[in-house]
Amino acid sequence: MTIDAKEPVTCEEGECYRVRTCAWSPPGDHPVGCGLYIYVKDGKVVKTEGDPSHPITNGRLCPRCIALDEVMYHPDRLTHPMVRDRADRGKDAWKQVSWDEAYDLIESRVREIWDTWGAETIFTITGTGRESTLYAPVYGPAVLNTCNGGGTQPFSGQACYGPRATIANFLLGAGYPEMDWAQYFPDRYDDPRYEVPKYILVWGKDPLYSSPDGLFGHSVIDLMKRGSKLIVVDPRVTWLAAHAEYHLQLRPGTDAAIGLAMINVLIEEDLYNHEFVERWCFGFDNLVEHVKPFTPEWAEPITWVPADVIRGAMRAFAAGAPSTALWGVAVDQIKNGVQAGQCFLDVLALCGYFDVPGAVILQKPASFIGKWRYEMGSTISEEMEAKRVVDPHGKYRLFNTGASIGGIQGDTLLNWLEMELDGFKLDQLPYQLKACWIIGSNVLACEGARPMRWYEAMKDLEFIVAQDIFMTPTIMGLADVVLPLSTFAEHDGIVTPHFGRNQHFLGAMNKALEPIDTKSDLEILIDMGKRLRPEIWDHVDDVHDFFDQQLRSFYDYGYETLREQVVIQPEFSYRKYETGLLRSDGEPGFDTPTGMIELDSVLFPHFGEQSMPYYEEPEYGPEAVTPEQRAEFPLVYTTGGRNITMFHSEHRQIPSLRAINHDPMVTIHPATAAANGIHAGDWVRVEGIFGSCVLKAKVNKQVNEKLVHLEHAWWFPEEDGEAPNLFGVWKANVNNLMPLESVGVTGYGAPYKNGICKISRVDSQEG
Ligand code: SF4
Repeated sequence: MTIDAKEPVTCEEGECYRVRTCAWSPPGDHPVGCGLYIYVKDGKVVKTEGDPSHPITNGRLCPRCIALDEVMYHPDRLTHPMVRDRADRGKDAWKQVSWDEAYDLIESRVREIWDTWGAETIFTITGTGRESTLYAPVYGPAVLNTCNGGGTQPFSGQACYGPRATIANFLLGAGYPEMDWAQYFPDRYDDPRYEVPKYILVWGKDPLYSSPDGLFGHSVIDLMKRGSKLIVVDPRVTWLAAHAEYHLQLRPGTDAAIGLAMINVLIEEDLYNHEFVERWCFGFDNLVEHVKPFTPEWAEPITWVPADVIRGAMRAFAAGAPSTALWGVAVDQIKNGVQAGQCFLDVLALCGYFDVPGAVILQKPASFIGKWRYEMGSTISEEMEAKRVVDPHGKYRLFNTGASIGGIQGDTLLNWLEMELDGFKLDQLPYQLKACWIIGSNVLACEGARPMRWYEAMKDLEFIVAQDIFMTPTIMGLADVVLPLSTFAEHDGIVTPHFGRNQHFLGAMNKALEPIDTKSDLEILIDMGKRLRPEIWDHVDDVHDFFDQQLRSFYDYGYETLREQVVIQPEFSYRKYETGLLRSDGEPGFDTPTGMIELDSVLFPHFGEQSMPYYEEPEYGPEAVTPEQRAEFPLVYTTGGRNITMFHSEHRQIPSLRAINHDPMVTIHPATAAANGIHAGDWVRVEGIFGSCVLKAKVNKQVNEKLVHLEHAWWFPEEDGEAPNLFGVWKANVNNLMPLESVGVTGYGAPYKNGICKISRVDSQEG
């Protein structure tokens, strides 16, 4: 179904012309595709405003899109390609070149590496959320002809989105399950098919701040205004937790124990949906036996959550049909995350809250981008495919099947770079990695656990290319060539919520003005593809032609139609498991080996994982470490809570946004702060088993007395950028504290959210 464009794409307004578009990135953001007007006067963007006719966001914007003009005209923005000698890595010794000169250099170095060491010695890494996430996995196979491209994110445990998407694939045979917030209906909450959920179970997610992956966070507020109540699973008292009927304020990393206790309550108290379970779920009898020991009373001392709160929450959730749920990146960032995710889906399955109005929507992934990426992934030979970097011990089998088109497991990549994998020394590995293309990743500031190890492992590579919108610590420290990116106001594109996995609309990013000397990620991909692998790219003229071909291969319209409509929503129906719309063979049921939702997984054991969820104590949590370590590090830390002004490590140089969040903060309970002689605004050293960082104290009761929360991804663009300082990237870096190689058996899950630490007041940020 298409909706009529309620507004023209461009129009005159006073001295400006106005362009109607959907936002994505850069600057950084997830594919929420908020609708906005961009006002241009005398060739410059002067203002952005929400587009009230956008059916999803209805004119609402967060501060990052409002500050677009500050990003575009910031004096530090990268505005030309730059190169420097390999010997000058870490020095501000950049030389401006033309795009042709930069492309010539990249092409000649890639061909040289192909001839000298083989294409497999080139790898790519990417970041999260940005528009580049769509295209980054294609650079490896379809430009660089390497098996080591794919969607490799340099996280320990691939700890971002991929685990949840894969768990859903394996257990439900569907793409990412998303809360029903009437997002598929043009008239939204007024559509007669829609029903407002009684409860929203918000688990490990803070969508008001993060607007993640295609979920417009304010939809939770919309539903609260319409009567939905909240059950929040979060170690912090977030705004949502403060407004929840039940707040399960758990010890970080114990999510799977909470989940097992929830399943226990649903089964033991006979609260589950018998009809749905009997018809659509596989393995129920085994699950009944499996969860008998995991009572809320068993979970209470492990999780810090009172048993009666777990019971009360599940009674309300099960009785309140329909109810819905959200799961967040916290599920991916704990070692036991696969099991926590499994519990989350089991709770929904037991209640029958899948694909009915007001519950959780399932979709068969349906995106031209997904199909195209798989096609591009198969453009490397089988011989090349066999050379992919994998752990020589055969660890992490789940991920190495490839969550997208074959990335490298993050811990394995770092170990391989360091050339020492559990005793496999340099000369025993088949080859050494030589070159890297960094596409929207700030590995030293944001993704890489133990960032100094990533820096040391990458700084002697033969050749490194990066592309971004601003200089970053990663680019300053490592790259030889930097390609400047255009903002979404300066290039045409398509927004695909959930990267196509649960895509409630396609949005047009309509260019508002011509870019300065910058290009989009897709333009660079096509340009370099034509140079290095013309046999794959010669049928594509340019970005417009690419989008038009891809859209027409999947839908009955082309790119011009999308540009004119700005938003196009697909046909939608509920209960697709009854009508064959979830399975590739068109039969009723779910696209799993059993055709049902698998409470007892058929596929997990093939990848070394247990078929049903279990709880494992966080490896570096207070109950697993030695008594000496527990005495030395008496607090538990968590990290990753979002600020609405920043997208991970981005926006630190934008004045209006930095004014709101000026310093990296550690949140400490007042009693804990007092016990450690710390006052609000003091600089605080946070020290763990593996390292330390210095943050500024925020003293409040958002955390309990045993917990501190550490903001992530801080660096300081105003500081000296040259090595070793690299814009101060090491001093406030929470990743200094993170363990590595402490991941689940599948290669997913990492303890970013749960470790132990101590805190002390220091005189300055320098510690
Ligand atoms: S969530 Fe914020 S930054 Fe992202 S598109 Fe919407 S308004 Fe822009």
